[in-house]
Amino acid sequence: MDKNKKKTVLWDTYSEQLTNETFSFGEKYRKFMSKCKTERECVKNLIVEAKEYGYRDLETIIKNKENLKPGDKVYCNNRDKSLALFHIGSRPFEDGLRILGAHVDSPRIDLKQNPLYEESGFAMFKTHYYGGIKKFQWVTLPLALHGVVAKKDGTLVDVVIGEDSTDPVIGISDVLPHLSKNQNSKKISEAFTGENLNICVGSIPLKSDDDKEENKVKKNILKILKDKYDIEEDDFLSSEFEAVPAGEARDYGLDNSMILAYGHDDRICSYTSFEAMMRLDSCDKTCVTLLVDKEEIGSVGASGMCSKFFENKLAEIMELCGEYSELRLRRSLANSKMLSSDVNAGFDPNFPDVYEKNNSSYFGKGLVLCKYTGARGKSGSNDASPEYIAELRKLYDKHDIKFQMAELGKVDQGGGGTIAYILAEYDMDVIDAGIAVHNMHAPYEVASKIDIYEAVRAYHAFLKEI
Ligand code: MN
Ligand code: MN
Repeated sequence: MDKNKKKTVLWDTYSEQLTNETFSFGEKYRKFMSKCKTERECVKNLIVEAKEYGYRDLETIIKNKENLKPGDKVYCNNRDKSLALFHIGSRPFEDGLRILGAHVDSPRIDLKQNPLYEESGFAMFKTHYYGGIKKFQWVTLPLALHGVVAKKDGTLVDVVIGEDSTDPVIGISDVLPHLSKNQNSKKISEAFTGENLNICVGSIPLKSDDDKEENKVKKNILKILKDKYDIEEDDFLSSEFEAVPAGEARDYGLDNSMILAYGHDDRICSYTSFEAMMRLDSCDKTCVTLLVDKEEIGSVGASGMCSKFFENKLAEIMELCGEYSELRLRRSLANSKMLSSDVNAGFDPNFPDVYEKNNSSYFGKGLVLCKYTGARGKSGSNDASPEYIAELRKLYDKHDIKFQMAELGKVDQGGGGTIAYILAEYDMDVIDAGIAVHNMHAPYEVASKIDIYEAVRAYHAFLKEI
């Protein structure tokens, strides 16, 4: 019988040392989550950390006409929004790569390109939500604004408002219960509409002698933005602003066993995959970690997994190693193995009806392997082969790493997809893996620290040996 079948949680089986490592890594992850709330912030901060471990920019290596050799570590930055890390192994690329993949974008409220307007004495932002949110969860919350403005002169202005304790926050209002007769009679999905998720950003009119002058509250906000960031109203046209829950990620539970954070989906798998990659001292097969954007809206676009970015950069790296040909590239991909990591819906005692107990993931029981995702009759899913799952079972038993096999909720209750099927198109073995969370896609999601640490161990073992 697999060790993993035992009905224990990791809190019972971890040694004192592993428990200590769990809490210290949990604190490192909590700080990362407090700081990195957009895909750009994740990519930027992870590049800084990767450089400390000896990773170098592929573009610089190409420009300097350098070659690459086994042991070299390279990072590829895709538009500051997604990141590919390569640790070149001693064996030929054709033997296949070991690939970890996760996504760094999370559901949120984006500003429209013409966001600012004035209504009834308030300056407001029009928004367009990103990803699958339950809209009612995003009202009456302190929101922070994170974003970039690309100016015509080529400069990029970074903006973060609402994270420092001295910063103001912004937010979306809701109607008071006393006047909610109409709202209460609606279905939840209809009571809150996307077009109504307008953010309040100000209420002081610009000082002016002209009593007939209009939109003075809006003009005052524009003046503040000009003074502080040197941006004009037209600059919103070439900007990306994301409104996200303001404030730090927190320890959760009276025993501090969990972390409450915005954006666990899927920075929790991104950061653990990244950590496993950084812990890799050497490797025989080339190891890759892909941290991609746009998963929450279908993995589309140049920075999403559907982009040719990864394939292009792999070709460049093989060329610099003297191993490139079209056929070798295809063989390298086809012989690869991948863990496509994303969050799983951990069993929630408040909502037992949507889970099927024998095939759900649980907090404290380690990495979640998911043979198939999808909806209805497994539609849209990458269905991992049992032969590949057997290899993983063997690996994890050998290293005493705990995993659980689960699907996402009850049959026909809903479903979801990941980036797994996109990599599987290269003819490689891929399985969904990840970490159980509660409140997926809510402003604050919850995960267990011990599952986070077990994922690091599981990803590291995968990179070393699969
Ligand atoms: Mn996800
Ligand atoms: Mn998601």
